[in-house]
Formats: sequence, C-alpha cells, structure tokens
Amino acid sequence: MLKELLENIYLIPEREFDANMYLIIEDNENLNLIDTGTGLNVTQTIKDINAQFDINKLKRIILTHCHIDHSGGLHRLAKKFAPEVVVYEIEAPYIEMGDTIVTVASFFGVDFPRTKVDVYLENDSVLDFGDLKFSVYNMPGHTHGSVVFYEPQRKILISGDVVFPQGSFGRTDFPTGNGAQLVESLKKISELDVEMLFPGHMPPIMKNANENNKKSYQMGKMMLEQGFL
Ligand SMILES: [Zn+2]
Repeated sequence: MLKELLENIYLIPEREFDANMYLIIEDNENLNLIDTGTGLNVTQTIKDINAQFDINKLKRIILTHCHIDHSGGLHRLAKKFAPEVVVYEIEAPYIEMGDTIVTVASFFGVDFPRTKVDVYLENDSVLDFGDLKFSVYNMPGHTHGSVVFYEPQRKILISGDVVFPQGSFGRTDFPTGNGAQLVESLKKISELDVEMLFPGHMPPIMKNANENNKKSYQMGKMMLEQGFL
C-alpha cells in the first residue's frame, strides 16, 4: 500500500526486512523511486505502485546507500523497467561490482547481482523532480557513502539510515561504518532546518523534525564520548 505523505510524495512502508521506500511523482507523470527494499517483495512493490500509478513510467531509481535492505530490489526493477539508476559516487562501485560484503548481502545469505549505475551523484548534486528539488549531501558514518536528500522549500529530509525518529540513528558496525563520522554527520543534519523527516526505517516525522534531529545528535555524541560508537 502506498501512503501519501505530501502532494507528489508517497511512502511504501517497510515490510519484513525491506527499508522504507519513497515514490516521488514528477510533472504528474514520471516516477522516481528512492530505495528498493531487499528484493524479497519486489512483486508486491510493483503491484502497490501499479494500483495508483503506471510503473512503466519509472524514470529513476535513486539509492540512499548500498545496504541490501535498500538496494536488493534494484537489479530486478532496473532490468524490468530500465529506469536511470542513480547512486552516490562512493556507493556506486559496490552496486556495479555486485559486492556482497559492504552491501551486507552475505549477512542475509543472498547474492547481489551487478547493476550498472547510470548517474554517479556527487556531494551537492541536485535531484530535480520538477516542483521538488533535493540537494544531495554525503553524510558518512553508517556507510561511508551514505547520502541524505534535502528539500529546503518544504524542509524535507530523506535520511536513509543516517538519522531516525525517537532520537536514534543508524548503526556504525557494518563495513565502512564509523562512529565519529556518524556523529559529525548528525551534527550537520541538526544544523539543517528540517520540518519533515522521511527515514529509511520507522515511520516519518511530519512536524518539527528539528527537535528529533538535535536529540539524535546529542545521543550520538554522548554514546561516542562513552565509547559505545
Ligand atoms: Zn543501512
């Protein structure tokens, strides 16, 4: 089931091991999918999207980072619908090489088929979805190439696994994770003006996400100081 969060932004809520996915409608027609789930439920994802839209209009798939609960559905969706595949430059090689360690596919005991990346995002790239334009910021710590997408007009942050609701944040113990870098990223996020937080896990925050993001930073800082990160 798609859940409308705002005009032109829909949530496909997390299911089993799948992370949240976000569908952004561009010019009333083209579809942009942010993250893809593990791939275990791709058929259901296609059905859910088709119930309201035409998935043949899938223009782009954009990943927040390479972990399999966000990227595992990419291979099948890309093969079937030929969207542009858009990934941050640091994470793209893992997707293109079919890496199973950094993507943590081996942790799930599954393969990670290679997929060609069409567009390498850079820090400060802009994702242009018509009315909605998101800036891309690299926020390392959960993985070194994790990115968040920030829309300053409506103050929306799509945060992948960097920052979560309830003052929490992504783990740092997977390959390329780093506690000190994560806390630095949480600090930067706490300095952005964010009203709505659309995270990779847990339900979105629709109001005053600034408060949450500051809490996440404080919590991360404290845990780092105490040696837990
Ligand atoms: Zn992750």
